[in-house]
Amino acid sequence: MMRPCEKCLKNSWAFKVNDGVVHATCDNCGNSVEFKARDKAENKKEIRKKRFFQEGDKCGRRDRDCSGTLHWKEDNEITAKRLEKSYHYEKWLKCNKCGATFFDNKYKILHETDSNGSIRFRKAIN
Ligand SMILES: [Zn+2]
Ligand SMILES: [Zn+2]
Repeated sequence: MMRPCEKCLKNSWAFKVNDGVVHATCDNCGNSVEFKARDKAENKKEIRKKRFFQEGDKCGRRDRDCSGTLHWKEDNEITAKRLEKSYHYEKWLKCNKCGATFFDNKYKILHETDSNGSIRFRKAIN
């Protein structure tokens, strides 16, 4: 829980989260403070993800001793074959040398089928 406001000593905060940082504004006097909301485990995961999935990164397939670099690939074509699967990716990184592919859940699109059999796309992570 949050401490009471230093200025008016009330505990009536309104919160907003922006890129992992919590901004708290006192509803009573308008005083505002911010603090990091991420816990350590989440932070670590985020760093690893960022380091791994970036255009121009080294392939990193040590088993292949690959010196290639990663580049974004995308395929937005809607085909029956794609729709039959339960998800697809908007884009992914592909090594320009060995062809290894790297997927990030950020770009994962789930296919949701309603009772009429209609499929709608929904992002796996918002
Ligand atoms: Zn206040
Ligand atoms: Zn490679």
